[in-house]
Amino acid sequence: MAMFLVMIRDVPRYVEPVYRPPSEARSLIFQVTYGCSSDQCTFCRVYRGKKFRKRNEQEVLKEFETAAGLYPRTRRIFLADGDALVLSPRIMLSYLERLYALFPELERVTAYSSPQNLLRKDPDDLRAIRAAGLNMLYIGIESGSERILNMVEKGVTPDEHVEACLEANAAGFETSLTVILGLGGPRYSEEHAIETGRVLTACAPTYIGALTLMLAEHNADFPASMYDGWRLLDIAETLREVRLMIENISCDGCTFRANHASNWLALKGRLMRDRPRLLSFIDDVLADPDSPYLRPDDFRAL
Ligand code: SF4
Repeated sequence: MAMFLVMIRDVPRYVEPVYRPPSEARSLIFQVTYGCSSDQCTFCRVYRGKKFRKRNEQEVLKEFETAAGLYPRTRRIFLADGDALVLSPRIMLSYLERLYALFPELERVTAYSSPQNLLRKDPDDLRAIRAAGLNMLYIGIESGSERILNMVEKGVTPDEHVEACLEANAAGFETSLTVILGLGGPRYSEEHAIETGRVLTACAPTYIGALTLMLAEHNADFPASMYDGWRLLDIAETLREVRLMIENISCDGCTFRANHASNWLALKGRLMRDRPRLLSFIDDVLADPDSPYLRPDDFRAL
């Protein structure tokens, strides 16, 4: 019983909800902030009701120490919640220095960042944060279409997305950019695909991740915020959209993934090498609505 109490007391205390990228499934997560400093994107609302705040620095450092005693062989750490790079350079450097001191086998630390937070940081500070061991930033691009970004109140222009990503690249970060299939609905599907391909190319990321928009309790009011006639795309429309997007991406050496559980069709390849294979695979599935490669709706999830 005493042992049980110790475990409960020592595990990092999470304030729900906690989100992390799919590729951080094996990472130890520390919430260095709660919520998202922007919290305005109309398709998201995952942190609705969770007021944004930066956690007390001493409390976080104490949590690092406690977790290091429990999980000393940790290799990967993800800093949550929605945009940890909102923290000042001084605090980020203090956290990174402590993490690498406490976890001797630590290989990488990653975090979400909004483009706004990247643009607000001085390039020298970004380089220092990278040098201290923050390896990769996950950035939500969502769309390259200015019209769609305005509609969903992202608060960033496509040019600002590009500028932010190039700042991150210049500081030496790996970047993983997320885009959302279906965000523009049927009317702007083509524009979404072409403009997103253009912006992704200009951002020259390390990874691109495509999710498919789904509606759930947290964002059920999203359709009402869009234009008359907006609706979710069906499977064929989504596949045509991702096909056109891939056709419009020309980043060499970047990994493209659409293998998140929200997607009907799991795709993964290295651009530009695998682009012909990805396009022909999508064509094969489009030609066969009963393709076994399609994920049944019941198995899709956010
Ligand atoms: S999409 Fe990202 S930036 Fe926008 S509200 Fe959600 S967590 Fe915040």
